[in-house]
This record gives sequence, C-alpha cells and structure tokens, in this order.
Amino acid sequence: MNTRLTPPNLPLLTLLALLLCGCNLSQPAPAVRPTATTFNAAGLVIPTLASRLSTLAPAGSNATATPEPTVIPDEPTAAATDLCALSADTPIALHQVEADIDIPAHTVTVTQATRYLNRTGAPLNDLVFNVEPNYWLEAFALTGVTGDGVGESSITGRRLTVPLTTPLEADCATTVTLAFTLNVPPVSSGVEAFKGYFGYTERQLNLGHWLPTVAVRANGGWITREAFFAGEQNVLDVADWEVTLRVSDDQWLVAAPGDVTEYGNGRSLGKLPRARDYSVSLSPDFVKSSDLTLDGVIVDVYTLGDTQVQTAEGVLDGATHALTVTARSLELFSQLYGTYPYSRMVIVQGDFPDGMEFSAFAFVGATWFKQYTGKPDGFLTLITVHEVAHQWWYAQVGNDSALTPWLDEALSTYSEYTFIEQFYPTLSDWWWEFRINAYTPDGFVDSTVYEFTTIRAYINAVYLNGVRMLHQMRQDLGSEAFFGILKAYASANAGRVVSPAAFWSQFSPEQLAATAATRAQFLRRADVGG
Ligand SMILES: [Zn+2]
Repeated sequence: MNTRLTPPNLPLLTLLALLLCGCNLSQPAPAVRPTATTFNAAGLVIPTLASRLSTLAPAGSNATATPEPTVIPDEPTAAATDLCALSADTPIALHQVEADIDIPAHTVTVTQATRYLNRTGAPLNDLVFNVEPNYWLEAFALTGVTGDGVGESSITGRRLTVPLTTPLEADCATTVTLAFTLNVPPVSSGVEAFKGYFGYTERQLNLGHWLPTVAVRANGGWITREAFFAGEQNVLDVADWEVTLRVSDDQWLVAAPGDVTEYGNGRSLGKLPRARDYSVSLSPDFVKSSDLTLDGVIVDVYTLGDTQVQTAEGVLDGATHALTVTARSLELFSQLYGTYPYSRMVIVQGDFPDGMEFSAFAFVGATWFKQYTGKPDGFLTLITVHEVAHQWWYAQVGNDSALTPWLDEALSTYSEYTFIEQFYPTLSDWWWEFRINAYTPDGFVDSTVYEFTTIRAYINAVYLNGVRMLHQMRQDLGSEAFFGILKAYASANAGRVVSPAAFWSQFSPEQLAATAATRAQFLRRADVGG
C-alpha cells in the first residue's frame, strides 16, 4: 500500500499499435502475467509478484487489525465547519454512516448523517433522497429524520422528501441525519435474482445501493427514476463516504472498498472519497486474494471458497484468474481512458447471477466462477473485465442509467473487446461470436431501460448493438482518433453526471460527419448536433 510503483507511460499511439497488431502478443492465459511482457516494451522494470505482494496483508485474512481507538468517532463532525464557506473542491455530499449489522436477523440498523452542499446556484426548499432499498417490500423502515430546519419528511416509493423550513442558500451546506433499519431480503429467483447485490444467502450478505443518496438536481427538479426489472435506475452524484460497521458475528468477514481500518470484534471504518456509492459484502467463507497493479493499485478479490476447478493441467483457481484479469484490465483501462482514481479495487464473488458495478467495488457472479474451465474464453473473464470497465463508465463518468444506459453499458461491453484484443488476440473472433453475434442483436442503442419486456432484449439493443455501433465508429474514425475521443470524454466528465451530448461533443464536425451513417444505423436520435 505504501509502495507507489512508477506507472507505465506508454504513449497511446504505441498502445494502439499493440492493440491492433496480433503479432508477438498471442499470449497464453494471463496467469503468467502477460502484461509484464506487454508493458515492458516501454523499458520498465517489472517487480516480481512476490515483492509486490509483500506490501499487502496476508491472503486469507481480511486485513491487519488495528488496535481499537479509545474513542471511535460516533458523532458527525461536519457541523463544526462553516457551512457556507466550504472549499471549492468539496463534494456535493459527505455521508457519515454508523451501521450495526445483525447477521442472523439479516437486519442493519443505520444512522446516516449526510451533509449536502447546495451547488445548484439557487436556494433549495427541500432535499430529496433516493432510497433504493425501498424497492423491496418492507426492506426499509425510516425511524427518524433530524437536522437544523428540517420539516416533516415523507417517503413515496424510493423517494424521500425532506422539506427545509429555512431555504438552503446557494453554496451553503446543511446536514440531515437519517435513522433507519434495513430488513435485507433473501436473494430471489428469476429476474429478481439479478438484484441480489442487495440480498442475502446462507453464505453471503450483500449491501449494494443500501444507503440513501441525495438525488441529482437538474432543471429545477430532483431526479428519481421509476424502478424497473431491467437494468439500473440510478442517477448518482459523487460523494465522500465514511462508514463505520459493527458486525454481530465477527466470523463474517467484510469486503468493502476504499481505505478500511479494522478494530477487531467486527468493527471497522471504511473511507471512500469521490464515489457514487459505498457497497459492502459479508461472508463467513471469504478467501481474499491480493495483487498490486503496475500503477500501485491494490486489487482484492474475495471468493467463497469454491473456486478451484480440476483441469487437465491440474487444479486451477478462478479466484487467481479473476485477480489477474482485474489487475490487467485496471492497467489497460488506465492507459486507454485515464488514471484509476482509487487506491484499491475490490471484486467479490456474488452469490447471485451475473455481475454488478459499484465504486471501487464490483460483484462477479458465482456461476461465472463455477463455469470457469481454466481457459480464458468464458464469462468469468468477460464479466470481470466488464465490471472493471464500469470504474470509468459509471463510477467516474456518471450517466442516467435508466434513460441513457448505453453510455455506461455499451462502453463497458466494448471495453471487454479491447481487453481481448490486448491480451488474447487469438480470441477476437471468438469474442464477437460468443458475446455479440450469437444473439443477433437488434434495437436502438439509445433506448431507455423502460422499453423492454425481457432482459435479453435490453442487453441485445443497448449493450450488444452498442458494441457494434462503437466498433463501427472506430472503423469510421481510425483507432487513434476513436480512443482519443474516449479518453477526452472520460477526462472532461469525471465526477459528473452526463447526457449523450457530452459524449458527442468530443467529436469534431469532421468526426461527426464521418460517423453520421453509423449513428443513423444504430440510434433513434442520430442527429446529435453535428
Ligand atoms: Zn454493465
């Protein structure tokens, strides 16, 4: 953690040349660390895996326990500062959370102090929190809303409105403290199982999108999107998070993002700056594998102890594969799209289908580990890469996941292809057939989630046809220009919530003209202002 390795400084052009050239890169499985070979083209000295791991906590433990402090901060400290003179780089929200997790009861008792900074430029008469757990029947019970000048609050569906008796002036902040209990539902079956990021099984308790967030303010209103079975319906600003956990059974280990300090006896404090969410998973079975990327990012993969597979070459571990794929994709996307902004990336084997992205944290479904054959041509590779790519397309560049899901999903799925091109170029044709063409995708890429009656149809249009559109635009523009646009788009919009206009604004008039036919083929709204 203390060792910051010099990041590779491979020029984009060189990287693109590597991406495009099948030569000398036909590496076998990345268990032999092909990146070292690839990035070493820049003349870097690659530290050995052993030396890089020596800085990490021992695998299998959750973290090195820190002696419990005399006083764990229980009270939010935000009120001590001048709430109309916060520095210019202060995020819109600071969430200070105290959560008691009762493992046998599957309940979480939470006190959440949220300091909200009004950056809207106008006074606000209320605050709206989006309460994702209220999607589930009886999963969320509000027990208190307090704060200076807070009126009587009301909750309808996933929308909690907190009136302010005195308007919150522009560039001033106020702190609202929510008290509530979560009754975490069991991981369901059918399409609802895909929402198992908030749910429990016998061996796992998942807390994704478990904490209320202040809605994004746009055009004079607060955004809450209708819940829907397909896709996601979150629109999230970035915030700072400080989350104290107390777990009733300290045999259940915690996987959490950011800087985590463990005090023993199930108590911990996690801090994650500039993040759209703070997500946690717990299990008594967690096995942790760790690595360090060439950029000095710690990668922690938490699996459920059942990831070893017997192959002709002997016993292989899907956890090791996921760890390597995560590290390599973090390095690749840092080159392609810009620096990964956190000190750690956490991958958790989720006891529910598919995968799910969060900030500095992602689930990869247990089924993908179960299907791992020891070969890279499967969903364990692709979904791991996909969820890592969301660290740029969701966690950094935010979008309306209900109305413009292609902005994160098409880009994350296409990022899978860039990974395959880089590390397994001989699998490129396989990827197109297995991931895209086999589904004969159709439908407008710029559809909302609400337009579909099946998850398959949604994925086909937004993800898979989205990939086809992006790839065709890459051919329209050339790879250097195409990846230049993606990097500029990420850089210009990190920390923001954007609409497609922000994406298209990165195209020059000539580039818009060159891609006009492609847009007309794939988009309902092909005229993007060019
Ligand atoms: Zn995705």
